[in-house]
Amino acid sequence: MSSLLDELYRLQDRIRFVQSRQRERDTVPAELAEVDREYREKLEAVRQIKARLIEADIEHRRAAGELSDHQEKQKKYQAQLRNVQTSREYSAVLNEIDGVEKSIRATEDRVLTLEEEIEGARADLKTREEKLPRETEEHEEKMKDWRAAQRAINEEVDAAKVEIGDLEGRMKPRDLAEFRRLVEKKGGLAIVRVVNNSCSACHVKIRPAALQILKAGSEMVYCDSCKRILYYDPHNP
Ligand SMILES: [Zn+2]
Repeated sequence: MSSLLDELYRLQDRIRFVQSRQRERDTVPAELAEVDREYREKLEAVRQIKARLIEADIEHRRAAGELSDHQEKQKKYQAQLRNVQTSREYSAVLNEIDGVEKSIRATEDRVLTLEEEIEGARADLKTREEKLPRETEEHEEKMKDWRAAQRAINEEVDAAKVEIGDLEGRMKPRDLAEFRRLVEKKGGLAIVRVVNNSCSACHVKIRPAALQILKAGSEMVYCDSCKRILYYDPHNP
Protein backbone atom coordinates (compact mmCIF):
# COMPACT_ATOMS: atom_id res chain seq x y z
CA MET A 1 0.00 0.00 0.00
CA SER A 2 2.64 2.50 0.95
CA SER A 3 4.44 2.02 -2.35
CA LEU A 4 1.16 2.64 -4.19
CA LEU A 5 0.74 5.85 -2.18
CA ASP A 6 4.30 6.87 -2.99
CA GLU A 7 3.58 6.34 -6.64
CA LEU A 8 0.26 8.17 -6.53
CA TYR A 9 1.91 11.09 -4.77
CA ARG A 10 4.69 11.17 -7.32
CA LEU A 11 2.19 10.82 -10.19
CA GLN A 12 0.15 13.76 -8.93
CA ASP A 13 3.31 15.78 -8.46
CA ARG A 14 4.40 15.09 -12.06
CA ILE A 15 0.93 15.86 -13.46
CA ARG A 16 0.92 19.19 -11.62
CA PHE A 17 4.45 19.88 -12.73
CA VAL A 18 3.51 19.34 -16.39
CA GLN A 19 0.46 21.58 -16.05
CA SER A 20 2.29 24.45 -14.40
CA ARG A 21 5.27 24.29 -16.74
CA GLN A 22 3.02 24.20 -19.79
CA ARG A 23 1.19 27.26 -18.49
CA GLU A 24 4.51 28.99 -18.03
CA ARG A 25 5.64 27.96 -21.53
CA ASP A 26 2.46 29.29 -23.13
CA THR A 27 2.48 32.64 -21.33
CA VAL A 28 4.66 35.24 -23.02
CA PRO A 29 6.48 37.18 -20.26
CA ALA A 30 5.04 40.66 -19.65
CA GLU A 31 8.19 42.43 -20.83
CA LEU A 32 7.99 40.57 -24.15
CA ALA A 33 4.23 40.64 -24.57
CA GLU A 34 4.27 44.22 -25.92
CA VAL A 35 7.15 43.47 -28.32
CA ASP A 36 5.35 40.36 -29.51
CA ARG A 37 2.06 42.20 -29.93
CA GLU A 38 3.67 44.94 -32.03
CA TYR A 39 5.31 42.37 -34.28
CA ARG A 40 2.10 40.40 -34.72
CA GLU A 41 0.28 43.60 -35.62
CA LYS A 42 2.80 44.21 -38.41
CA LEU A 43 2.23 40.71 -39.77
CA GLU A 44 -1.50 41.19 -39.50
CA ALA A 45 -1.34 44.55 -41.30
CA VAL A 46 0.50 42.96 -44.24
CA ARG A 47 -2.07 40.19 -44.36
CA GLN A 48 -4.95 42.68 -44.35
CA ILE A 49 -3.41 44.90 -47.04
CA LYS A 50 -2.92 41.88 -49.30
CA ALA A 51 -6.50 40.77 -48.75
CA ARG A 52 -7.81 44.29 -49.43
CA LEU A 53 -5.72 44.55 -52.62
CA ILE A 54 -7.31 41.39 -53.99
CA GLU A 55 -10.79 42.82 -53.26
CA ALA A 56 -9.94 46.27 -54.59
CA ASP A 57 -8.62 44.77 -57.84
CA ILE A 58 -11.90 42.91 -58.32
CA GLU A 59 -13.90 46.06 -57.54
CA HIS A 60 -11.74 48.04 -59.94
CA ARG A 61 -12.23 45.55 -62.79
CA ARG A 62 -15.95 45.57 -62.17
CA ALA A 63 -16.13 49.38 -62.11
CA ALA A 64 -14.03 49.62 -65.29
CA GLY A 65 -16.44 47.18 -66.96
CA GLU A 66 -19.43 49.26 -65.86
CA LEU A 67 -17.74 52.40 -67.16
CA SER A 68 -17.26 50.96 -70.63
CA ASP A 69 -20.90 49.77 -70.64
CA HIS A 70 -22.03 53.32 -69.83
CA GLN A 71 -19.77 54.72 -72.54
CA GLU A 72 -21.25 52.28 -75.07
CA LYS A 73 -24.72 53.48 -74.14
CA GLN A 74 -23.62 57.08 -74.43
CA LYS A 75 -22.39 56.43 -77.99
CA LYS A 76 -25.64 54.67 -78.84
CA TYR A 77 -27.75 57.62 -77.60
CA GLN A 78 -25.54 60.12 -79.40
CA ALA A 79 -26.10 58.19 -82.64
CA GLN A 80 -29.85 58.17 -81.93
CA LEU A 81 -29.75 61.90 -81.37
CA ARG A 82 -28.60 62.43 -84.94
CA ASN A 83 -31.56 60.48 -86.30
CA VAL A 84 -34.47 61.82 -84.19
CA GLN A 85 -37.47 63.13 -86.06
CA THR A 86 -39.42 65.05 -83.43
CA SER A 87 -38.54 67.42 -80.66
CA ARG A 88 -40.20 65.05 -78.17
CA GLU A 89 -37.89 62.26 -79.28
CA TYR A 90 -35.02 64.69 -79.13
CA SER A 91 -35.60 65.67 -75.51
CA ALA A 92 -36.20 62.01 -74.54
CA VAL A 93 -32.84 61.00 -75.96
CA LEU A 94 -31.20 64.04 -74.35
CA ASN A 95 -32.61 62.86 -71.03
CA GLU A 96 -31.08 59.44 -71.57
CA ILE A 97 -27.76 61.02 -72.40
CA ASP A 98 -27.99 63.14 -69.27
CA GLY A 99 -28.59 60.08 -67.14
CA VAL A 100 -25.83 58.04 -68.68
CA GLU A 101 -23.37 60.92 -68.31
CA LYS A 102 -24.17 61.10 -64.61
CA SER A 103 -23.48 57.37 -64.34
CA ILE A 104 -20.23 57.83 -66.26
CA ARG A 105 -19.06 60.56 -63.88
CA ALA A 106 -19.97 58.54 -60.80
CA THR A 107 -18.28 55.41 -62.15
CA GLU A 108 -15.20 57.37 -63.21
CA ASP A 109 -14.96 58.71 -59.67
CA ARG A 110 -15.18 55.19 -58.29
CA VAL A 111 -12.54 53.90 -60.73
CA LEU A 112 -10.22 56.76 -59.78
CA THR A 113 -10.76 56.34 -56.05
CA LEU A 114 -10.02 52.62 -56.36
CA GLU A 115 -6.92 53.29 -58.47
CA GLU A 116 -5.65 55.71 -55.83
CA GLU A 117 -6.41 53.22 -53.09
CA ILE A 118 -4.69 50.38 -54.94
CA GLU A 119 -1.66 52.51 -55.70
CA GLY A 120 -1.40 53.61 -52.06
CA ALA A 121 -1.88 50.09 -50.74
CA ARG A 122 0.75 48.67 -53.10
CA ALA A 123 3.26 51.30 -52.00
CA ASP A 124 2.41 50.68 -48.34
CA LEU A 125 2.72 46.92 -48.82
CA LYS A 126 6.07 47.28 -50.57
CA THR A 127 7.49 49.40 -47.73
CA ARG A 128 6.16 47.00 -45.12
CA GLU A 129 7.43 43.93 -46.93
CA GLU A 130 10.84 45.45 -47.36
CA LYS A 131 11.07 46.12 -43.64
CA LEU A 132 9.65 42.79 -42.58
CA PRO A 133 12.76 40.55 -42.86
CA ARG A 134 14.76 42.89 -40.62
CA GLU A 135 11.85 43.26 -38.21
CA THR A 136 11.45 39.50 -38.10
CA GLU A 137 15.12 39.09 -37.36
CA GLU A 138 14.99 41.73 -34.59
CA HIS A 139 11.89 40.17 -33.17
CA GLU A 140 13.44 36.71 -33.13
CA GLU A 141 16.52 38.19 -31.47
CA LYS A 142 14.41 39.72 -28.70
CA MET A 143 12.46 36.49 -28.32
CA LYS A 144 15.56 34.29 -28.49
CA ASP A 145 16.08 33.81 -24.76
CA TRP A 146 12.40 33.21 -24.27
CA ARG A 147 12.34 30.63 -27.08
CA ALA A 148 15.31 28.89 -25.47
CA ALA A 149 13.48 28.90 -22.14
CA GLN A 150 10.43 27.43 -23.90
CA ARG A 151 12.55 24.66 -25.42
CA ALA A 152 14.03 23.88 -22.00
CA ILE A 153 10.52 23.72 -20.53
CA ASN A 154 9.46 21.38 -23.34
CA GLU A 155 12.31 19.05 -22.48
CA GLU A 156 11.31 19.03 -18.81
CA VAL A 157 7.69 18.45 -19.75
CA ASP A 158 8.61 15.60 -22.10
CA ALA A 159 10.71 13.91 -19.39
CA ALA A 160 7.89 14.31 -16.86
CA LYS A 161 5.40 12.83 -19.34
CA VAL A 162 7.64 9.79 -19.80
CA GLU A 163 7.70 9.35 -16.03
CA ILE A 164 3.90 9.77 -15.86
CA GLY A 165 3.56 7.06 -18.50
CA ASP A 166 5.84 4.72 -16.52
CA LEU A 167 3.99 5.32 -13.26
CA GLU A 168 0.61 4.84 -14.87
CA GLY A 169 1.82 1.73 -16.68
CA ARG A 170 2.69 0.12 -13.36
CA MET A 171 -0.70 0.83 -11.78
CA LYS A 172 -3.84 -1.23 -11.96
CA PRO A 173 -6.22 0.41 -14.43
CA ARG A 174 -8.92 0.55 -11.76
CA ASP A 175 -6.66 2.32 -9.22
CA LEU A 176 -5.56 4.71 -11.90
CA ALA A 177 -9.08 5.48 -13.08
CA GLU A 178 -10.22 6.16 -9.51
CA PHE A 179 -7.22 8.34 -8.87
CA ARG A 180 -7.75 10.32 -12.06
CA ARG A 181 -11.38 10.85 -11.11
CA LEU A 182 -10.36 12.15 -7.67
CA VAL A 183 -7.72 14.43 -9.20
CA GLU A 184 -10.42 15.86 -11.46
CA LYS A 185 -12.87 16.33 -8.58
CA LYS A 186 -10.39 17.84 -6.14
CA GLY A 187 -8.88 20.51 -8.32
CA GLY A 188 -5.68 18.60 -9.05
CA LEU A 189 -5.01 17.61 -5.45
CA ALA A 190 -6.20 14.07 -4.83
CA ILE A 191 -3.46 12.95 -2.44
CA VAL A 192 -2.08 15.29 0.20
CA ARG A 193 0.60 15.12 2.84
CA VAL A 194 -0.07 14.82 6.53
CA VAL A 195 1.61 17.73 8.28
CA ASN A 196 1.48 18.07 12.09
CA ASN A 197 -1.08 15.29 12.17
CA SER A 198 -3.39 17.37 10.00
CA CYS A 199 -4.52 17.23 6.40
CA SER A 200 -2.33 19.73 4.57
CA ALA A 201 -5.13 20.61 2.15
CA CYS A 202 -7.94 21.48 4.56
CA HIS A 203 -5.94 21.59 7.85
CA VAL A 204 -8.38 19.42 9.73
CA LYS A 205 -6.80 17.22 12.45
CA ILE A 206 -6.66 13.53 11.67
CA ARG A 207 -8.33 11.16 14.14
CA PRO A 208 -5.76 9.17 16.19
CA ALA A 209 -7.17 5.89 14.91
CA ALA A 210 -6.82 6.99 11.31
CA LEU A 211 -3.32 8.18 12.07
CA GLN A 212 -2.47 4.72 13.38
CA ILE A 213 -3.63 3.10 10.14
CA LEU A 214 -1.74 5.69 8.13
CA LYS A 215 1.47 5.06 9.99
CA ALA A 216 1.07 1.34 9.57
CA GLY A 217 0.69 1.97 5.86
CA SER A 218 -1.68 -0.94 5.48
CA GLU A 219 -4.66 0.73 3.83
CA MET A 220 -5.76 3.87 2.14
CA VAL A 221 -7.02 6.60 4.47
CA TYR A 222 -9.10 9.55 3.33
CA CYS A 223 -9.37 12.90 5.07
CA ASP A 224 -12.67 12.99 6.99
CA SER A 225 -13.23 16.56 5.95
CA CYS A 226 -12.09 17.04 2.34
CA LYS A 227 -12.10 13.35 1.31
CA ARG A 228 -8.66 13.42 -0.23
CA ILE A 229 -6.22 10.51 0.08
CA LEU A 230 -3.83 11.14 2.96
CA TYR A 231 -0.15 10.59 2.41
CA TYR A 232 2.06 10.00 5.40
CA ASP A 233 5.76 10.25 4.79
CA PRO A 234 7.71 8.90 7.81
CA HIS A 235 10.84 10.72 6.66
CA ASN A 236 8.99 13.98 6.43
CA PRO A 237 6.14 13.86 8.97
ZN1 LIG B 1 -8.54 17.36 4.21
